[in-house]
Amino acid sequence: MNMNERRVLISGASIAGLACAYWLRRHGFSVTIVEIAPSPRPGGQAVDLRGAGRTVIDRMGLLNGARAIGLEQAGMSWVDAHGQTRAAMPTDAFGGEGFISEIEILRGDLVDLLYQQLGDGIEWIFNDTITELAQSSNYVNVTFRGARPQRFDFVIGADGLHSAVRTAAFGREEDFVHPLGLYTAWFTAPAFEELDNWYQLYNHTGGLVASIRPGSQPSESKAALSFRTRPGERVGHDRRDRASQIALLEDRFGGVGWHVPRLLEAARSASDFSFDEMGKVQLSRWWNGRIALIGDAAACPTPLSGLGTSVALVGAYVLAGELGDGSDHAAAFAAYDRLVRPYVEGAQQLAGGPGGYAPMTALAIRFMQASMSWATRWPMRGFMEKQFSKASDIDLPDYTPA
Ligand SMILES: Cc1cc2nc3c(=O)[nH]c(=O)nc-3n(C[C@H](O)[C@H](O)[C@H](O)COP(=O)(O)OP(=O)(O)OC[C@H]3O[C@@H](n4cnc5c(N)ncnc54)[C@H](O)[C@@H]3O)c2cc1C
Repeated sequence: MNMNERRVLISGASIAGLACAYWLRRHGFSVTIVEIAPSPRPGGQAVDLRGAGRTVIDRMGLLNGARAIGLEQAGMSWVDAHGQTRAAMPTDAFGGEGFISEIEILRGDLVDLLYQQLGDGIEWIFNDTITELAQSSNYVNVTFRGARPQRFDFVIGADGLHSAVRTAAFGREEDFVHPLGLYTAWFTAPAFEELDNWYQLYNHTGGLVASIRPGSQPSESKAALSFRTRPGERVGHDRRDRASQIALLEDRFGGVGWHVPRLLEAARSASDFSFDEMGKVQLSRWWNGRIALIGDAAACPTPLSGLGTSVALVGAYVLAGELGDGSDHAAAFAAYDRLVRPYVEGAQQLAGGPGGYAPMTALAIRFMQASMSWATRWPMRGFMEKQFSKASDIDLPDYTPA
């Protein structure tokens, strides 16, 4: 390592963290990444590459690579318990910028694309987490659970909804994470022949949603099971205990039709099972001294927005670009916050609440399906287009280093 290089520690090796590492390296920083998992985490359903997020991928030289691993998606359809289609939205309904975007990639494949591009030159600390951050005006001393303590010029929290950096440098999770009362499990399931490239969702009364969509292999599909809680209800589960999460799903989805029994069976053995409550993250400032937050850690708009990936990529790109050579980090972090905040607010507004995705009553389900059938027609179309345009609602400065 060049002794004059400034050292940055990034916590979290997912979309925000890996993209930020790429740009910080291009701006001349020496980058270390700490990730709690043994490797960049696979799994998840498809994420959308749209608007400004797609621009960042393009500026990283990855657009062709992203297209090459994109999924073939016919569109999104809402079905009843017998599999009959009640409403449908083809991929090209809004010129490829609608509910299903023109480029949809499995989350794990996008993470892998970003990881492969980084190549050598990053110091990796897997299976570990930050336990303490102590900063002075010139550096941050970092203590890890396993690795030896180290000193960095800057620390970036890209460690998602339950960010350890945010807790260490900003305060308690409860002060920043606003739960939606909607829990979701994502996992890989066997293929369902009748999908025909459609992303199918089945809504059941009580705020239950089961969905399946094509995976990247003919033998698999990507599944999700979501349920809502009643106002004020807290679901007592251990975030790291899969057995209690499966028990919760079995309790909520017991006796529900469509493909749900098959999905529950797949959830029990899936190697990429993940489960969490959705929540919006809101902080009045994304930096504190030499420590800054990006992606879900800073501003999770929830998967309901369809913009979580774009928010992560845009935040990573702008933060690294503004930091430049690191000589005036306070001005850089403030500029990052000012530039990205309106974009994030648009994304969080777009997400709304869980009602549109997981209606509670049979009447509300029928109303939602009717709205989807009308979405591409007057007068709904103009409103919907305005909503989807939020994905591009930021002028991205060109920070490309010479
Ligand atoms: C396994 C998984 C599956 C997902 N599936 C979907 C999906 O299907 N659809 C969707 O819209 N969104 C999904 N998401 C969320 C989506 O990836 C993000 O909303 C979005 O892309 C923003 O990315 P991010 O990098 O900010 O956060 P995330 O993608 O959440 O990444 C955070 C990273 O930080 C790591 N981490 C967490 N805690 C620590 C710690 N203490 N120390 C070090 N590292 C830590 C995590 O392991 C992860 O690699 C999923 C996230 C994960 C982790």
